[in-house]
Amino acid sequence: MNAKSVIRVRNAAMAMLLSLTVLIPIHGASAGQVYKHGDPNRSRIAITVDDCFDLGILQDMLDLFSRENVRVTFYPVGRFIKEKDRELWLRVINDGHEIGNHTYNHKKLTNLTGNRIREELKMAQKALNKALGFDYSMRTMRPPYGSFNANKTLQKIYRSGWPNVIFWSVSQGNADKAIEKIRGGSVCLFHTIKRDYNSLTRLIPQLKEMGFEMVTVSELFEFDNVLPEGGGPL
Ligand SMILES: [Zn+2]
Repeated sequence: MNAKSVIRVRNAAMAMLLSLTVLIPIHGASAGQVYKHGDPNRSRIAITVDDCFDLGILQDMLDLFSRENVRVTFYPVGRFIKEKDRELWLRVINDGHEIGNHTYNHKKLTNLTGNRIREELKMAQKALNKALGFDYSMRTMRPPYGSFNANKTLQKIYRSGWPNVIFWSVSQGNADKAIEKIRGGSVCLFHTIKRDYNSLTRLIPQLKEMGFEMVTVSELFEFDNVLPEGGGPL
C-alpha cells in the first residue's frame, strides 16, 4: 500500500466515522415522530377537539359522545384548565377520553426557543394535574395552529420530552364535506364551537353506520395505554 492509498483509506474511514456521528442523537434527544394518519386498512378513526375555550360546548360534546358511546381526544389550552372545573375534567377522563398537550399559552412554537417550548408544555401538564387533583401523563402533543418547522421546532419539542406530535388529516366543519374526506385512519380536527358541535351530532351516527370505530389518538397509533399514573382517580 503506497502513501496515497493509505491517505485514501484514512479519508474513507474518517467519512464513515463522520456519517456515524450524525446518527447519534444530540443531547440525548429522543426519537420523535409526527403522526397525521393511522392505518388506512383499519376502519378506526380519531376525533380530536382542540382548545376547549367554551366549556359549555365541551359539556354538550361530552353528552353527545357518551350518548353515542365514542371516545375522542381533547387538546385543551393549558391556561384554560382550571381547578374550579375539576368535575368537568374528571368527567373527560372517566368517560374514557384522552387529553393531550396543546401548550399553556397557545403561542406559535416557531417563534419560541427550546426552553420556552419546554416551559409551555410543562405548564400545561401541571395545570391539568392540578385541575384533576392527581398526575395524569399526557402522551401526545399538538402544536398550536399546526405551526412548526420540520427540523428546528420538532427537535425542540422532542428534546422537551414529547416524542408524539399529533397533526390531523381532516379539518372540515361541514358534516357533508367531512364525510367525503374521512377514511380509515383519519385524524379529524374539531374545536369547541357551535358549528363543530352541530357537525359532530350529524357526523357521528353516519360514521358509525359506515362501520367506523372512533378511538383516541393513543389507541389509533397504538401508543402505551393512557391511564393516569397510579391508576387514575379514586
Ligand atoms: Zn389550538
